[in-house]
Amino acid sequence: MTEDGANDHGIDGEGDDGHGSDGEGDDGHGSDGEGGAGIGVVYLVGSGPGDPDLLTVKAERLMDEADVVLHDKLPGPEILGRIPEEKREDVGKRAGGEWTPQEYTNRRLVELAEEGLTVVRLKGGDPFVFGRGGEEAEHLAANGIPFEVVPGVTSAIAGPAVAGIPVTHRDHASSVSFVTGHEDPTKEESAVDWDALAATGGTVVVLMGVGKLPDYVAELRRAGLDADVPVALVERATWPDMRVATGTLGTIVDVRDEAGIRPPAITVIGEVAATRERVLGFLRNAHGGSE
Ligand code: SAH
Repeated sequence: MTEDGANDHGIDGEGDDGHGSDGEGDDGHGSDGEGGAGIGVVYLVGSGPGDPDLLTVKAERLMDEADVVLHDKLPGPEILGRIPEEKREDVGKRAGGEWTPQEYTNRRLVELAEEGLTVVRLKGGDPFVFGRGGEEAEHLAANGIPFEVVPGVTSAIAGPAVAGIPVTHRDHASSVSFVTGHEDPTKEESAVDWDALAATGGTVVVLMGVGKLPDYVAELRRAGLDADVPVALVERATWPDMRVATGTLGTIVDVRDEAGIRPPAITVIGEVAATRERVLGFLRNAHGGSE
């Protein structure tokens, strides 16, 4: 709980530069030597969008080496299926349907590290993209727990990509914005400025944006985007049951309803979304062709 505890355990930047498994660690596992007596390490690891082949080499190694892996459902069935049952702790949705509070996860990470364990906190995509990884990092630092961030392939880029959609394109989009759709866009104090996003003329990628699709589509239309701006929904990107549905700002809400698109899904809005049609005939990504 101490605010100033971080430096007590040597995480002030000198300990590990990520290259130094020679000389300073003794077994290369990195769970000792830098944390002071008995303290473990927490790895905030991105799992990528779900295809185990898109795990980083480092993520896979750490999942093997960890004493315990805290995860939610987002890494997907294939990756979660690779973690031995006895190491797994699900901090995602509980049986009753409510979410495990973030405070519990924060506390649990500290508790396990204080037991001297090597802990992997496995998150879908990249841990620092809408993944609360930042909150966990701050909590760990405030409690003097050494941690390492292991970036992952974010669904915000990989989701569109495997559907044949580049988030930037020299002819169509020279910027891309990643936003949460979870906010109520009609709220006065909404944290997402849809007018400003519409004004960029670039691609808008919405995460957590299935439920509120009608609201932010309306906001973007109000902000001046045409009804014929292409939109794609990529559901469960790279999972075995991935689906893609395409339309325009004018049609996408009906498309969502007819296809029954459910979370997790990425919404891609902008001219780039039309690239899919031009490449679909030769797109070899598994399920990339399914509608
Ligand atoms: N850290 C994650 C994002 C977490 S927020 C990342 O970098 O990918 C949760 C949202 O991510 C979901 O609501 C969905 O919009 C998106 N998402 C994560 N994995 C996905 C997948 N395999 N396919 C489609 N969307 C996904």
